[in-house]
Amino acid sequence: MKDVKEQVAYLKGLIDGSDFLAKEGKERAVWERMLELFSAVAEGLEELKAGQKELEEYAEALDDDLAEIEEELYGEEEAGEDEFVEMECPHCKEAVRFAEDLLYEDDVEVTCPNCGEVVYASEPGGDGEDEAHPDETK
Ligand SMILES: [Zn+2]
Repeated sequence: MKDVKEQVAYLKGLIDGSDFLAKEGKERAVWERMLELFSAVAEGLEELKAGQKELEEYAEALDDDLAEIEEELYGEEEAGEDEFVEMECPHCKEAVRFAEDLLYEDDVEVTCPNCGEVVYASEPGGDGEDEAHPDETK
């Protein structure tokens, strides 16, 4: 579709150069008013388009920023949650983080970096002792 402003200008040229439209009088006034109205509409459309383009650019910029923030926040956090577990030291209440893999290995002992006490110890045989559940031994 042709630019609305162009079409209005074309119509104005047609009217100005026409022989069949009266150069004076009420009929002419009606055409002039219509041209003014069309121009105003075309003007408004241009403004809307410009405003929409600005909004689109703004939304795109926001989207980019959000993606960056999401990557920073969730990207690192997910990796951390997948690979580490956090336990409270039963002796000094210090939060101790260690690799989750250690939970599934035998003969593992995790000591608290704060007080040096054992925070988690894997079961050597499978006799169901409390050591495998440090959360319940508080
Ligand atoms: Zn401790």
